[in-house]
Amino acid sequence: MVAVWSAVAALLGVLINNSLSLVIKDYTVQEWRLGIAGYNGAIVGMYWGDSIFSIMGLCLFLVTLLICLLIEFRLRALLIPKQLPILSLPAMVSILVMVFTISLFSFDTNHLLFTGAAEPVLQTYSREVAIILVVSAMAYQYPLATLQTLGISLTGGLVAQWLTGLNLYALVDLWAINLVLAYFSIKTLFLKHARLASLAATFNALLAWIIWYFWFITGLEQLSAPLLIPFIMSSLITLSLYRQYINHNLLQSELWRTFKLMLINRLRAKQCVAITGSGIRKGTLPDYPSGQWLDPKVPITSYTLAEFKASKRCRYLYWKASYDYYQQALTINKNNIDEQLDYLLNHYLSGLFTETVDSLFNTEQHPVYECYGSIKRLYCLDCAKQQAWPPIPLWSQRDLHCQHCSGLLKPQILAADENIDSECYQALQKNMMECGCLLVIGVPTITPVVSMIIENANANKIPIIFIGTIPFGYFVEEKDVQLTGDIAHWLAEINGFINLLHPLKWGCKWKK
Ligand SMILES: [Zn+2]
Repeated sequence: MVAVWSAVAALLGVLINNSLSLVIKDYTVQEWRLGIAGYNGAIVGMYWGDSIFSIMGLCLFLVTLLICLLIEFRLRALLIPKQLPILSLPAMVSILVMVFTISLFSFDTNHLLFTGAAEPVLQTYSREVAIILVVSAMAYQYPLATLQTLGISLTGGLVAQWLTGLNLYALVDLWAINLVLAYFSIKTLFLKHARLASLAATFNALLAWIIWYFWFITGLEQLSAPLLIPFIMSSLITLSLYRQYINHNLLQSELWRTFKLMLINRLRAKQCVAITGSGIRKGTLPDYPSGQWLDPKVPITSYTLAEFKASKRCRYLYWKASYDYYQQALTINKNNIDEQLDYLLNHYLSGLFTETVDSLFNTEQHPVYECYGSIKRLYCLDCAKQQAWPPIPLWSQRDLHCQHCSGLLKPQILAADENIDSECYQALQKNMMECGCLLVIGVPTITPVVSMIIENANANKIPIIFIGTIPFGYFVEEKDVQLTGDIAHWLAEINGFINLLHPLKWGCKWKK
């Protein structure tokens, strides 16, 4: 519609490149049938246009095509293993190489290349009709992406018009070629159906705009029009970055939902309660509530409180299992997760309940409730006073007795038939009353304690943020968030956000 002879030359370029590709076999048959072996030739043809009707022009056109084909061959070997498309880089590079070479021999490139003016089909409106046809073809298959592309392209064109003072028609290579391709190709081709494709496409369009503007203000424009270069460079950068960072924590929508929940919670001056499970000790200590630390050859019923009181043999078994667990607990130190949890506790949480029994938390400023007690202490079954482990394993020879009332001593961890400590239970109830957001961190299974907290949260429509794992068999509700994977990483992101929220704390106090 706009330049008939450019179209003819483009067809010629496609024909030649497609035929040569068959000979040198730089594409598979399947790729060749899709037509992707020919488009670089089309662009070379489009560029030379009606100058191919002079002998000199035709020679230059054919030489450019040959260079283009060679570059295409090399680039494919280089970029395809990196999962990056070559786009029309071969055509662009070969055209620029030719133009710069000619200008070295001080030919007037403008005079040489465009001997005849581009002849439109219609007297007026050729360009408009062409645009409508192209947009219709785009919208035929991708109506929504086309609409978004039009918005991006128009905005980009208007901004450039305002910045450069040039007419919109003069900026046609920006808004009609580079921005459109940058957005549309990511949405409908390279990252079709991929997560965050719209974000990547917008980023690509913005980057293409910046590269175009750089070309414009540095005077490169004087040497050659930017052609498709902004689109090609931005797409290669965007796709490389996408492949590298798509799994980064900050690009997960669930993390942003978490941030939103935490912000709302703070604005409403609500509390945040957390429960942690054995997931925070993964690989170092066995899960306490599931009894992984008990001797598998002994029936679990031998480890009850009733049996502990009644049978000397069961007492021995209980002490032995506890002592082994205690020895394991002594060897481990605070890990990354503990450090993140300490920070979270000091800056955001109102209460931390844990299913671990290793007493590794820093409990000086804020209480941490160990729902199942602590493996590092002993207590008296009669007067409930606590005591440390004796330095030598006396339990293997005789029963241990309380220093105060000579009652029977037992490791201060809950046996299967013991109830949760009343102080801990009350703290739990009190915390959940004020709670606006519940964190469930590294809890592998639904234990009675976890079930109590989760049911309380669900009954009050409190959103739950699961970090690390979803408890086995639990169905996550709409209001809930799941951040599966590395617990320490997620907590680090959350703590970073809490740091940002810090000033709001003062605002809330003032509001109260
Ligand atoms: Zn006692």
